[in-house]
Amino acid sequence: MPAKYHLKIEQDIPVIAECDVLVAGGGPGGLGAAVMAASSGAKTILVERFGILGGMASAGEVHPFMPNHYDAEGAGNAWISDHETCMDRPVYLEWLRAMAAYLPPVIRGKALADSEACNIARNIDKNAASLAAEDLCLKAGVKLLYHHTLVQVPVLDGRIEYAVFSSKSGFVAVKAKTYVDSTGDGDLAALAGCGFETGGPDGNCQPMTLCFKLSNIDRAKMPDYEQMQELYQKAKCAGILDCPRENLLYMETNDPSVIHFNTTRIIGRSGIDGIALSEAEIEGRRQFRQYLEWFRSSVPGFGNAQIHSIAQHIGVRETRRINGLACLTREDFIKRSKFKDAIARCNYPIDIHSTNGAGTEMVHIPHVEYYEIPYGCIVAKDVSNLTIGSRCISVDHAVHSSMRVMPPVCSIGQAAGLAAALAAKNGVGQSTLDGVEIRERLKAQGAWL
Ligand SMILES: Cc1cc2nc3c(=O)[nH]c(=O)nc-3n(C[C@H](O)[C@H](O)[C@H](O)COP(=O)(O)OP(=O)(O)OC[C@H]3O[C@@H](n4cnc5c(N)ncnc54)[C@H](O)[C@@H]3O)c2cc1C
Repeated sequence: MPAKYHLKIEQDIPVIAECDVLVAGGGPGGLGAAVMAASSGAKTILVERFGILGGMASAGEVHPFMPNHYDAEGAGNAWISDHETCMDRPVYLEWLRAMAAYLPPVIRGKALADSEACNIARNIDKNAASLAAEDLCLKAGVKLLYHHTLVQVPVLDGRIEYAVFSSKSGFVAVKAKTYVDSTGDGDLAALAGCGFETGGPDGNCQPMTLCFKLSNIDRAKMPDYEQMQELYQKAKCAGILDCPRENLLYMETNDPSVIHFNTTRIIGRSGIDGIALSEAEIEGRRQFRQYLEWFRSSVPGFGNAQIHSIAQHIGVRETRRINGLACLTREDFIKRSKFKDAIARCNYPIDIHSTNGAGTEMVHIPHVEYYEIPYGCIVAKDVSNLTIGSRCISVDHAVHSSMRVMPPVCSIGQAAGLAAALAAKNGVGQSTLDGVEIRERLKAQGAWL
């Protein structure tokens, strides 16, 4: 919505902390960044607008962790087998292991093999995800600042000087030597004046989805997958449901009586426009109410369905992609491009939910292959001391749809955090670092590169 007029306010803003590395945003990317920066010896502050960590894994009710596995034998499916390698380590794997501590007693305290940790925590328990993320940060010595929303980023001579947050105390600032943008939306980079791209060929971003779970489902009566889709199409034809999705997207959870739904579709609204985001929440809940009524009245097994949980924040798949020193495109995905300065590997498919209605484009990579993300994709082009440690790195719309899932985003975050720590230690910006050295240092920390 265009501004009616502008208001100028001059304010004294207290600087409440100084540190080596400031990470803005505590989702999977921010977790990777903060834990890796602190483990590399940097005094690290992680600032999050909500009162919990986990980002989409907790506040967004997203489920499950999508597979990003290397399979030497070339089979590859959603679950990881003994001969497969989880490509996202060390922080992502540590996160999964830490989650297991909050899962039912049969799992607690067990020494988990990598594949076991991946499979056990794959079905996300959002409370376990946020508790485990906090455990990892506190153990690594990360200072956590909750309930602070980034609002201003003053820049001097191409370097970010401060990050300003809005909190219950009013506006406060933190000064750091280097910064990591883990907001998912690239808020920090954009506020610092960095250039960015948005959307696909039609200019629109992927749609948003309000995720939810229903409980008290009678699984013995629940129709099979094909029958569920038939019921869905019938309800759409009858005008009972008007969600633009082409099918009903649902998944099992660890509790047989609880089903997860990733099936609302909110198109044509931008996740970086405050008013559009507010409208999207209302539209997401409108679609939810319609679904709830339909499930209870028309779908066998759902007669006594209860609302188990609704995401506290609508799921935003795509917003800004910050201009970096390098950019990865669909061609790199097709060629499975490899780089000397690779900082993460990915073989999750191109997965583009239609930006304007029905349909989802999927382009798969066999698990025996992967493409690599070079260091330049996570280094902001327009300021010197900023790495991007979340989904908003420098890639095109197609590659974004692949690398955006949580395991590789956590790996991207850890690379951004490691680079920020090294740059702070050397008194330089991340843009002057050698990506090949970052890769070697990541390998020394246990990254699979
Ligand atoms: C509907 C939907 C379904 C998905 N399904 C899956 C799936 O099944 N499996 C999978 O692996 N991935 C899935 N994804 C993708 C994945 O969840 C995200 O791409 C991933 O979480 C991105 O991680 P991130 O750290 O970049 O951002 P986020 O997870 O969004 O975390 C960003 C964090 O930054 C904080 N933040 C944002 N702005 C500010 C600010 N201005 N100041 C302070 N803090 C701020 C947020 O509160 C949040 O905690 C899905 C995404 C959506 C939207």
